[in-house]
Amino acid sequence: MRNIVREFGGRRVVDNVSLKVMPGQVTCLLGPSGCGKSTTLRIIAGVDMQDSGEIYVDNKLVCDTVYRVPPERRSIGLMFQDFALFPHLTVGQNVAFGLDGPKDETRARVEELLGRVGLLHFIDSHPHELSGGEQQRVALARALAPRPSIMLMDEPFSGLDNRLRDDIRDETLAVLKEEGAAVLLVTHEPDEAMRMADQIALMRNGEIVQLGAPYNIYNRPVDLEAARFFSDIN
Ligand code: ADP
Ligand code: MG
Repeated sequence: MRNIVREFGGRRVVDNVSLKVMPGQVTCLLGPSGCGKSTTLRIIAGVDMQDSGEIYVDNKLVCDTVYRVPPERRSIGLMFQDFALFPHLTVGQNVAFGLDGPKDETRARVEELLGRVGLLHFIDSHPHELSGGEQQRVALARALAPRPSIMLMDEPFSGLDNRLRDDIRDETLAVLKEEGAAVLLVTHEPDEAMRMADQIALMRNGEIVQLGAPYNIYNRPVDLEAARFFSDIN
């Protein structure tokens, strides 16, 4: 994304944001609640529109102020905290939902992904038969099934209880790495970014104030406010 600006009622919520995410890497968009993270993701996904700036996927323009590719043709996968599975479909049908190829290819892809998240035995079950963590892994498989170039994840772990969260973060990271999409993961938790990111984009008041590897940002925060933000990590 390049020079993205979004205003609501004259207030700049996304303030000239430029950011590049690379295949096989996880970039964490990290910042306090209200700093503009979700708005940024919604603009990339195409469910909100920037006032100025451009979005590119695979080096192709998908959106500027005069041209706009609709969300479903952007090669973008989405995963949000409350992104529910379809309750009336089986686990397998949920994962197959965005696939439109031949039946046997769809079946193979669904089995591959359910195997990867360790839930192949649930293929004919319905979502309500699964725990929250298992449903979350199915949602990951569903989002990855069409092989999106970019995966957008908005606080995907915040609905899970603490005991499970670290394990699910690690499993999710392993699956994302195997699939090789460019991942942009939003979080307000520094320890989640430290754990998952190849690159952290630190956001504040709509701006990216620091960009770099977790280790570098943690050791050389750009200012006192950034240092304080990281200080409650153990
Ligand atoms: P974050 O995800 O970092 O918590 P958001 O992107 O959701 O932040 O919101 C950033 C700011 O923009 C907040 O102050 C929020 O109230 C405001 N905002 C978001 N969406 C809208 C909207 N549709 N209309 C007006 N204000 C909005
Ligand atoms: Mg948000």
